[in-house]
Order: sequence, then structure tokens, then C-alpha cells
Amino acid sequence: MELIDGNKIAADVIAELKAEVATLPGRKPSLVLVRVGDDPASVSYVKKKEQAATAIGIDSRVILPPVSITQAELEKLIDQLNADRGVDAILVQSPLPKHIDELQIFRRIAPGKDVDGLGTMNLGKVAQDDANGFVSCTPAGIIELLTRSGVDLKGQHVVVLGRSLLVGKPVALLALQKKSNATVTICHSATRDLPAITRTADVLIAAIGRPEFVTADMVKPGAVVIDVGINRVPDPAKKTGYRLVGDVHFASVAPLAGKITPVPGGVGPMTVAMLMKNTLKAYRQQKPSE
Ligand code: NAP
Repeated sequence: MELIDGNKIAADVIAELKAEVATLPGRKPSLVLVRVGDDPASVSYVKKKEQAATAIGIDSRVILPPVSITQAELEKLIDQLNADRGVDAILVQSPLPKHIDELQIFRRIAPGKDVDGLGTMNLGKVAQDDANGFVSCTPAGIIELLTRSGVDLKGQHVVVLGRSLLVGKPVALLALQKKSNATVTICHSATRDLPAITRTADVLIAAIGRPEFVTADMVKPGAVVIDVGINRVPDPAKKTGYRLVGDVHFASVAPLAGKITPVPGGVGPMTVAMLMKNTLKAYRQQKPSE
């Protein structure tokens, strides 16, 4: 078994981006992160995104609207950021409070600044094999991890567990694109006899949000296993009172997998790195104003 080290690969990507940003004349790329409320996971993700931006030389700013913000007020904020020529990239951290229609907010972000790639235009471009758009950061990070780990998807059977807008659907589309050329199966909560399908996977991507759901009997020996899940399970022995586990039961699956990502330290850091890559792309696609 080979461990796919997401921390190391993400650090490589970040070093490459830092070198690229250092060569840019004039103003630096700018990223605005919008976080509504104090969801602990969101607080931690936004902090990591800010730290990565600083390390690379990307100007980042965090806007913290109160949890009571209305749909109209949040849309107005997005409109202002869309119109601001000094802002290249906008990321609205998910999840938003229940009273906000998240999809409408994602759709509101100008396609050229939609670095999380969740708006209609950018998701459509993924379906159209159009490389000019922004690919959602977690799916893009998964493909980058596979590529940099020497996994060629051509002709491989990729099984994706989960069909969310954020992960499952776009990663399935990316694996299906001509440049990846995989054969793709997508599973969800209504899929019958899941283990029979997952056992046929050359590459298994688990994105369901169920702690340690994928067990050894569901995995073909030698398969590449990508664990997207980030689940907090209670653990009194930890200072925080919880520990992070993936959607894969790592202890039983790792010995038989060909390659596997750990949680934490697998897909998570790649999500952050891809956000930075997309921000630089957004900057390059806009006409920088001095
Ligand atoms: P989500 O929106 O809740 O979607 C979960 C998907 O899994 C749904 O399509 C659901 O099916 C399917 N599912 C749930 N239970 C299932 C079961 N027992 N069998 C088969 N399919 C099942 O979650 P998400 O946003 O995609 O996130 C998934 C996980 O990835 C979470 O743990 C999340 O924290 C993590 N995540 C990590 C990163 C990262 O950077 N590493 C980024 C994003 C998300 P239905 O559609 O039928 O309901």
C-alpha cells in the first residue's frame, strides 16, 4: 500500500504558485472569503484558506456577515464584490445558514470570479470539457492528487460514492472528460447492493459524509481509494473532544488498497491549494487594475 500524501502534494502546488505570484507585476491577485456565522468547521477551513493565500502572496480578505443576514443582503454583498475591479475571486464558504438559499448565492457570483466553480456557468463548462472555467476545488484537488501520484484514469473504472454538487457530481464529470477517459459509476443513497459495485472499482472515491462507511469487504485488492469525507466523531481522549475520520475505515482498507489517502492530510489540503490555483487563474483572466 502507498499512502497518498495530500499535505506534501498540496505544499508542492503552493510552492509553485508562490513562485508564479512572485513574478507578477503590479497588484497581486485578490481573494475575498465570505463566511456567514460561526460553524466551527467553516471557521477552520476559512483560516486555512487565508493562511495559504498569505503564504503565496495572494491578497485575501475575510468578510464575516452576521448569521442574521438576509438573502437579499447577501446577494447585495455578492453584487458589490462582483462589481469591484480590485476583487479577482470570491468564495462563499458552505454551509450557509438554513434560511439562505445557497444555490442562489453560488449562482449570483460572477462566473469569472466564481473560484469555487459552483455556479451554473462553471459547472456547465465542466460538463462541456471546457478548460476555461473554474473547476470546483475539492474535485479539482482529487484529480490533481491522482495525477501527481501517477494514477492514469484512462480506461479505469472509477466509482464515486455520493452525488453532491460540491464533490460527487463534478468529480464524476472530471473523471469522464476525454482527458481523463475513465469509465464512471456514481452511487448514492438509493443505489442497490453498493458493495457489489464498489468491489469493481479500480479507483474508489468516497464522498458521502458517513464516518468509516467503506470497509474492507467493499474494496477490490489493489484499488486506489480516495477518501473525501471529513467527519467529527466524539473522542473524550482528545483535547477537542472529537477526532476526524473519513468515509473510509482506514485501518481495514489501507492494507489491501494499492494507494489510499489519509484523513486528515489527504484531499483536504488539496481543496485549499486548488482554491489558490483558481484565484491566480481568475486574476490572469481579468484585466488587472493597478
Ligand atoms: P452531501 O452533500 O451530504 O452529499 C452526500 C452524498 O452521499 C449524497 O449524494 C448522498 O446520497 C450520498 N450518501 C449518503 N449516505 C449514503 C449511503 N449510505 N450510501 C450511498 N450514498 C450515500 O456531502 P458532500 O458535501 O458531498 O460531502 C461528503 C463528505 O466530504 C463530507 O464528509 C464532507 O465533510 C466531506 N468534504 C470534504 C472536503 C475536503 O476538502 N476534503 C470538501 C467537501 C466535502 P443522496 O444524494 O441520495 O442523498
